[in-house]
Amino acid sequence: MTTRLIIARPLPGTVGETRRVVHLFPLPADAAMPERLTAYCDATFGPGELELLERPLGMPCLICLQRSPRPTSELPAAES
Ligand SMILES: [Zn+2]
Repeated sequence: MTTRLIIARPLPGTVGETRRVVHLFPLPADAAMPERLTAYCDATFGPGELELLERPLGMPCLICLQRSPRPTSELPAAES
């Protein structure tokens, strides 16, 4: 199954500045944009709470990074 990745962070004012990290949201390729998005770190956001980004900017959410599939441009993780 193909999954699109949405990159977004909370809009200013919706959360504290320190929590405005960039989350990654998995979305099935054939799905419409859902009402609420759930990030890999289980944070959920409703309409008007997210700033969608073309590419990762600023501080990434570490939990999202760990749980998301690795971009092919990065070195593969060591198998353990
Ligand atoms: Zn996250």
